[in-house]
Amino acid sequence: MTASQPDVLAGAYGQCQPFRIEALRPCTLVILGASGDLTRRKLMPALYNLFELGALPSGCQILGCGRTALTSDHFREQMLVAIRQQRALTMEEWERFARLLAYRRLDYAQQADWQDLASWLRQPGLPASRLFYCALPPDQYATVACQLGAVGLQQATAPDYSRLIIEKPFGHDLASAIALDASLHQIFAEDQLFRIDHYLAKETVQNLLMLRFANALFEPLWNRSYIDSVTIIASEQLGVGQRAGYYDRAGVLRDMFQNHLMQMLALVAMEPPSRFETETVQNEKAKLFRSLRPFSTGDPAPQLLLGQYQAGQIDGQAVVGYRAEAGVAADSCTATYALLQLYIDNWRWSGVPFYLLSGKRLAAKQTAIHIQFKQIPHSLFGHLLSAPIPANRLELAIYPQERIALHLQTKSPGGKACLAPVQLCYDYPQAPLQARLDAYEKVLLDCLQGDHMMFWRQDGVALSWAYLEPVLGRCGSQPLLPYVAGSWGPPEAAALTARLLNI
Ligand code: NDP
Repeated sequence: MTASQPDVLAGAYGQCQPFRIEALRPCTLVILGASGDLTRRKLMPALYNLFELGALPSGCQILGCGRTALTSDHFREQMLVAIRQQRALTMEEWERFARLLAYRRLDYAQQADWQDLASWLRQPGLPASRLFYCALPPDQYATVACQLGAVGLQQATAPDYSRLIIEKPFGHDLASAIALDASLHQIFAEDQLFRIDHYLAKETVQNLLMLRFANALFEPLWNRSYIDSVTIIASEQLGVGQRAGYYDRAGVLRDMFQNHLMQMLALVAMEPPSRFETETVQNEKAKLFRSLRPFSTGDPAPQLLLGQYQAGQIDGQAVVGYRAEAGVAADSCTATYALLQLYIDNWRWSGVPFYLLSGKRLAAKQTAIHIQFKQIPHSLFGHLLSAPIPANRLELAIYPQERIALHLQTKSPGGKACLAPVQLCYDYPQAPLQARLDAYEKVLLDCLQGDHMMFWRQDGVALSWAYLEPVLGRCGSQPLLPYVAGSWGPPEAAALTARLLNI
């Protein structure tokens, strides 16, 4: 690693808190479920990129585990193919990284396999700090924690550590989320657990805190007096693909709302934390979740529209409806679209509607937060214009581009009262690879650093489920509105969606 590399990362990763690779302890990263899709598509390419940047502490080892019988050589070959699907690398570059990789067969139910794993991990020369990454179906998380505890791998002597990383979904409902937490906490302390939400590692999402709290400009306007509504959208063009089994049980509310949309909601609406520190930020998020008006109560009451996609066209290609997808029951009542209008009962947001929208097979893949400001209180140009002046809008876009756009009105050249909309725009620079880290690279780096700020805390998970339980209760009892694949959702929501998204 060259002397300049930590600075490159410092610039990319946060100037206020320079990232010093030298401060990190080497660790053994154990990927459980290493034969799976997440490992191939996300984890291994991210680990390789971190390695190439010099961001993996020297001495790190990566051990893939799974029930599939693979030799370490075979595993390495598979990982080379996986990385090459995402980027070019020479054999020389690969071989330097490949030396860190090994694979062991592990049957999660067999205690003897865990004993063998523990002996392997404790061999001299391997780092005593360990990160266990559950790239596994969620019903295996409790078993993994229990087995790790049985062989003592949850323990480490400071300054070494043992950490467990889990992926969403964190339970299927409130009861199962609480049960999962209870199982994990029998073995691991909260500060050893990392519950990933990779949306939180996106630049624009992280930038929400900087934009709101590093500028004097926005915070005075960030309330019911100036903001008319807030819309958070995460739309997809994709259907269920290979994940029909999971998706048909989960539906859009569990798949997108319980985690990603609720986190974005918390960051956009929470009160200013007193310091940029994990506990203070997590406390504000929890406070925000507690302020949500319970679904279907109050005046006005939160509203919900649910939909399911029918056959249609995406980018000119015919696609089947949800019920005709392989692995989906012909009479499935799973919602693939939801538009939830909610309220936050606190001083700042009283009366301001928040709209959370997500769905599959919609017209475009888009992830964004739209802050719609109120109309100007009085138009002195009213008698000169044929239409009302559009209100200001702040758009925080995460996909397709990461950008911040402030929509304003200005005078256009020409006549005395020519108004034209303009955008003040900040596009995240298309910086060279080493200057930017993708979501999984940041997540892994945070886990290595032990930084929990951009992960879910236990109480947040429970509060989010508690809010959504009555919403989920509506699935099956309220109409499931059909929509044509490739549209913006059910016709019943068309006018509102067009207004919210300015389309
Ligand atoms: P996979 O379905 O590909 O499973 C990963 C591995 O787990 C499999 O290769 C298999 O390995 C093992 N496995 C499968 N079923 C069982 C079982 N019943 N008992 C024990 N082991 C099993 O999952 P993904 O890789 O797609 O995802 C892993 C986790 O990450 C999941 O929790 C998922 O929800 C989450 N996630 C995935 C994303 C993605 O893009 N793939 C995105 C966000 C979250 P073997 O047979 O070798 O043991």
